Amino acid sequence: MENDHHGTDEKFMQDALKEAWRAAEKGEVPVGAVIVREGRIIARGHNLRERLGDPTAHAEMLAMRDAAQVVGGWRLNGCTLYVTMEPCPMCAGAAIQARLDRIVYGAADPKAGAAGSCVDLLSRDCFNHRVAVTGGVLAGKCAFVVQEFFRKLRATGTEQDREPGKLPGRGCHAGPDLI
Ligand SMILES: [Zn+2]
Repeated sequence: MENDHHGTDEKFMQDALKEAWRAAEKGEVPVGAVIVREGRIIARGHNLRERLGDPTAHAEMLAMRDAAQVVGGWRLNGCTLYVTMEPCPMCAGAAIQARLDRIVYGAADPKAGAAGSCVDLLSRDCFNHRVAVTGGVLAGKCAFVVQEFFRKLRATGTEQDREPGKLPGRGCHAGPDLI
């Protein structure tokens, strides 16, 4: 853990949290991400798996795609990815492929996390690139948004029952384009 990043990490994690709440408003499992380079957010993303019908449309993947557009290539050296949940193996793998400098995540994910909770892809020396990792930044807030989402979902039916993109509960609101 690098304590010198502490204040900055919390600041950008707040931005990732905003993305997570955007996902929740669309009835998506609320995970949000931002990518920062030279102290500035260059890309944002939130989970759109249901909306896009795309198993790869995780917050981190969408943010990395956008960041690659911004920097004009697939190499994201010098970039830090902030994401509200510990990345899954796909996203951790993509971060290695993208040569990201660092990943900062919020809540651990015991069921899918690839930064140590389920598997640990990011501490391995065998890959040609190693991404530095800091976990647990605003973990409580990052877990809360997911807990709230599933609490509302349970109140209105199971995830399998609902239509893609349908809102999980009355507590969530969405723009007219989402209905
Ligand atoms: Zn993922």
